[in-house]
Amino acid sequence: MRTAVVALRGGDGPAMSVKTRKLEFPCPVCGSGEVFYTCTPNCCYNHVCGGCGATFEPETRRKGGTIAGIAPPDPLPDATDPTTECAACGATAVYMTEDGAVVCGQCGAALELEITEVNPA
Ligand SMILES: [Zn+2]
Ligand SMILES: [Zn+2]
Repeated sequence: MRTAVVALRGGDGPAMSVKTRKLEFPCPVCGSGEVFYTCTPNCCYNHVCGGCGATFEPETRRKGGTIAGIAPPDPLPDATDPTTECAACGATAVYMTEDGAVVCGQCGAALELEITEVNPA
């Protein structure tokens, strides 16, 4: 006797969950994708570029609208993966959908990413 275990994640089920991936953005100075988060969410959002050593902070702005059924990335981001705070609810669960839109995994707000405090090395 065998029991089939069917995982209903994504696939051809109803569009109830929006798959996301870790937040990713290139260095605003040299364009490298080797960007690391160097602080903690209750301190600041200082990131450093592994390519040129520039530092910067990503910020979000509400784009208007929300996206329902956000599924967090699997695996979840590491502590050093780029992160930022949702402009709507303050959660640090900001992810990217498969088509590159930035969304909050907590409240579902559609967000726009902005890089601030750019300090070239
Ligand atoms: Zn750089
Ligand atoms: Zn939010």
